[in-house]
Amino acid sequence: MNANALLDFTGLPRFNAITSADVQPAISELLAQARALVEQLTTGNVAATWNDFAAPLADGIERLSRAWGIVAHLHSVNDIPEWREAYNGMLPAVSRFYAELGQNLKLFASYKVIRESTEYPQLSLARRRIVDNEIRDFRLSGAELPEEKKPRFQAIQEELAHLAAKFSENLLDATNAFAEIVSDEAELAGLPDDVKQAAREAALKDAEAGVPASWKFTLHMPSYLPVMQYADSRRLRAAMYRAYATRAAEFGPSELDNTPLILRILELRREAAQLLGYNNHAEVSLVPKMAESVAQVLAFLRDLAIKAKPFAERDIAELRDFARQELGLETLEPWDVGYASEKLLQARYAFSEQDVKQYFGEEKVLAGLFHVVETLFGVRIKPDSAPVWHEDVRFFRIEEQVGGNSMPNAEKDAHAGELIGQFYLDLYARETKRGGAWMDEAIARRRVAGHASVGIQKPVAYLNCNFSRPVGSRPATFTHNEVSTLFHETGHGLHHLLTRGEELGVSGIHGVEWDAVELPSQFMENYCWDWGVLQQMTAHVDTGAPLPRALFDKMLAAKNFQSGLQNVRQLEFSLFDLLLHSDFDPAGNRSILDLLAEVRREVAVIVPPEWHRLPNSFSHIFAGGYGAGYFSYKWAEVLSADCFAAFEEAGDPFDPVTGKRFLDEILSVGGTRPALDNFRAFRGREPQVDALLRHSGMIPA
Ligand code: ZN
Repeated sequence: MNANALLDFTGLPRFNAITSADVQPAISELLAQARALVEQLTTGNVAATWNDFAAPLADGIERLSRAWGIVAHLHSVNDIPEWREAYNGMLPAVSRFYAELGQNLKLFASYKVIRESTEYPQLSLARRRIVDNEIRDFRLSGAELPEEKKPRFQAIQEELAHLAAKFSENLLDATNAFAEIVSDEAELAGLPDDVKQAAREAALKDAEAGVPASWKFTLHMPSYLPVMQYADSRRLRAAMYRAYATRAAEFGPSELDNTPLILRILELRREAAQLLGYNNHAEVSLVPKMAESVAQVLAFLRDLAIKAKPFAERDIAELRDFARQELGLETLEPWDVGYASEKLLQARYAFSEQDVKQYFGEEKVLAGLFHVVETLFGVRIKPDSAPVWHEDVRFFRIEEQVGGNSMPNAEKDAHAGELIGQFYLDLYARETKRGGAWMDEAIARRRVAGHASVGIQKPVAYLNCNFSRPVGSRPATFTHNEVSTLFHETGHGLHHLLTRGEELGVSGIHGVEWDAVELPSQFMENYCWDWGVLQQMTAHVDTGAPLPRALFDKMLAAKNFQSGLQNVRQLEFSLFDLLLHSDFDPAGNRSILDLLAEVRREVAVIVPPEWHRLPNSFSHIFAGGYGAGYFSYKWAEVLSADCFAAFEEAGDPFDPVTGKRFLDEILSVGGTRPALDNFRAFRGREPQVDALLRHSGMIPA
């Protein structure tokens, strides 16, 4: 065994031996080795073939990414000073290495030689796809441009990066610049006590001692949202709404106005797209995505809008009636919508999260989850043991089941009991753990030359959540939302673990288009809304009774509450984003707000006031990497709902034939094949929006 446990690649990570002191020497050595390898592959007389170039490059980089993956993982789940220091100490060097790799034109040249060679048509589908993806990514970063155009392209990228950062800074500064000081306690009516308390503390922090009592509200979410949702004072809601809706716009200080930045970003994105040979930025954005064309996405969004709009109109009519009759609001203003909705939700569909939680004990939930996975995909999940980073962590193995689904038919029984993959489960929140829930890979599945036994390196995943731990002798219990999160992350985990990929670059979730990555995760969420599954998966911690049907019906109604409104709102953002980056000329006569008004006439049912400046705070698309990609949220939801509908059509959420097809055509294929081909192979047709509508309670009369 290697003295530095981070440099041991023979098996599972040695969490019982790895220390933060190992990081600097191990990662430095691996970086040096990787650099030397790149140097050797690009300067010597190395033939640009799969075996002499692409395979050794993948092997060499994998060692670095595996070791760095362990360091990053430990930084996320055990963020104590020495791990934070170890991680941050090496982060710049690791980032620099990957950035250089993406700009190395000699690597690009070698991939192009393979692409043009007689070897290429002989390569497996997976290897051809890796070569194609590499070339695509180099091209999109400008590697193919004629020398005289490269400096301009580079300058555009730099200016865009600067503009994106400035956009975010302006928005944050404008958000911080506003405060609403309330000095009349009566204006706090309706607000939860903790919100009032926080507002009081914020005011005290600013004020001189002895200043009369006041409360400070800001545009940050923990202050803004409760006001819009709970404050009885219409004046307070209206003031906060207006401030929020006009951030970083022409009404405030000109140095914080994002309007000129937006125009410049749109201009530069268009120019960069045209340098690359495309008409507009939307076309560039779609190149590495699952969606095939702007026209296809527009048709998809408009189809969904036409079908969802009647339900949004129904939602808003219901809300208007309720607001008039129960709240005395004759006209429903935009700053009343959140407030009235909260009151309506409480009046019609209220239930206690705490009551629900008593039915979802940890062991019952895990047994239910594993049963779903085992039944659908013909595998067995068993407890396993391995060194772990914390005593809370559990470890499991997935094996082939006799007659299971995960092997091609002819082979399956011969492989019963064979190891498929393993995963760590770290369920509880800790002070030293990053927030949220996520799946990460420890080891990816691939064929390894000269590897012992069958030559396949088995995949290993980390599933991390932040649920509450058991208190006293009572088992841990989860909210339904937490259960849904666990199913979601398990879906990502299965994408990684049940892959049959043998090439690193397209195995598991590697190489999967980002608008398709959420398909397996959202697909799995459907099972925690299935009544049959819930009956098996729930038992009251005191009485042992399963979840009552009446409670489930309320949960379902609350889940689908105002789904029409929510859908058209997301469609408004998606359509606006896509049209802005395809059918809009920054130098033309039509303004951005004109375009937004057109989109709203088409899809929206709530039209904000004329002074509302949505674009000025739309950081997803101007500062967050979602430019001409905001539609991905809806796209992935539609795909996962449509996949689950295949099981409903078969009359059984566990239909074995459909389960095998989902495994064969989507889950196990990973990035080997374009995601739209995977979908078509599974569904036998193009994606349709109907299942999403039905699952959200939008069923045409
Ligand atoms: Zn996800």
